[in-house]
Amino acid sequence: MPVSLKNLTTFGIEATCAELYEVHSPEQIPSYHGILSEPHLILGGGSNILITKNLEIPVIAIRNQGIHIEQENQSNIWVKVGAGVVWDELVHWAVSNGFGGVENLSLIPGHVGAAPVQNIGAYGVEIANALKSVTAWDKFIQNFCQISVQDCQLGYRDSYFKQKGKDRFIITEITLCLQKPPTYNPILSYGTVLEELRKSYLEPFTIQQVRDTIVEIRRTKLPDPKVTGNAGSFFRNPIISHEQFVELQKDFPAIVHYRVHNEVKLAAGWLIEQVGWKGYRQGDVGCHPKQALVLVNYGKATGAEVWELAQKIQQSIFQKFNVKLEPEVNVY
Ligand code: FAD
Ligand code: NAP
Repeated sequence: MPVSLKNLTTFGIEATCAELYEVHSPEQIPSYHGILSEPHLILGGGSNILITKNLEIPVIAIRNQGIHIEQENQSNIWVKVGAGVVWDELVHWAVSNGFGGVENLSLIPGHVGAAPVQNIGAYGVEIANALKSVTAWDKFIQNFCQISVQDCQLGYRDSYFKQKGKDRFIITEITLCLQKPPTYNPILSYGTVLEELRKSYLEPFTIQQVRDTIVEIRRTKLPDPKVTGNAGSFFRNPIISHEQFVELQKDFPAIVHYRVHNEVKLAAGWLIEQVGWKGYRQGDVGCHPKQALVLVNYGKATGAEVWELAQKIQQSIFQKFNVKLEPEVNVY
């Protein structure tokens, strides 16, 4: 009997899968050997996924809970967290216990297990800053393994789990190293974060104040998936060579860009806006009026319609800027 996925992804798009299995404890996983040896989809909170058709495969939802302190010293604390914990509940736990390091990642939807998959990042911080290791079920060797942060190969919205290790691992737990107050080192240099903090608080800012400010900024700018279906930024910001950038800037002097080592990161939202897609709507599919990088489902959009719009955007950006936009969202 097909199972509806509508309420299991933040796009809120109607689509079904063949069967749904829920993993509440990593120990259950070996018994799924038969299912895991055939095509299947691993699901967290469904906030980085677009399903374009009914899936003829089973979906395995990872739901194991738990936040355990592994070790601590005067300056740091190591916590092991179950993959099914809601990411923002972990951030809330950390902040309310006075542990720093992930507060800039407040309000990112989804579950802990998916966080290393695209190395979640926001407001100048990535999970790479706090991650120590990942525990995962390795479908190849059919056993649990420990993967160090170095071996996770975390990059800009990228990791080993999206590249060579794609479809090989089920992340069951992650270990983070958080900062205690003596070593707490807030990162406030991104965008308007410091400016907004100063409007409401006096320095030195507490971890809670940083979290509250990030939450406030995000709420004013980003659509709430509970109200309007979306999966956050649909595309990654393209990173191009310095040489290509110099050429591009001759034609588009106002192009929004950031230096990343020897390369240049372009703001994909700005590119999309220049081509006129911001605020576009056809039927129930659209490009968000406040943040062009976010594609939205206003109600009854299909996954195929969203994907069609995404491809049209890609084509028009390529025609105008000769730049390839790659989806950040996982399309199935
Ligand atoms: P899912 O969407 O369920 O899965 C994503 C991918 O990871 C899939 O390929 C899935 O197969 C795989 N996966 C999931 N769980 C596991 C597991 N346990 N083991 C192995 N593979 C797994 N992202 C950012 O980086 N920064 C942001 O600021 C941000 N803001 C967002 C704002 C909004 C409003 C929305 C809707 C999304 C935003 N995102 C952001 C994207 C998204 O929240 C993150 O990518 C998040 O980590 C996805 O988690 P999830 O549990 O929903 O993953
Ligand atoms: P924003 O602040 O309007 O900035 C637009 C883009 O410019 C961002 O994508 C950001 O890249 C880049 N940028 C801005 N300031 C930068 C700096 N000082 N150094 C390097 N790059 C800079 O973006 P926003 O949409 O409001 O989002 C705010 C933050 O939340 C961003 O970090 C964004 O990544 C994150 N976010 C992510 C998603 C998602 O689904 N992935 C959704 C919503 C918000 P970066 O993306 O590299 O930061």
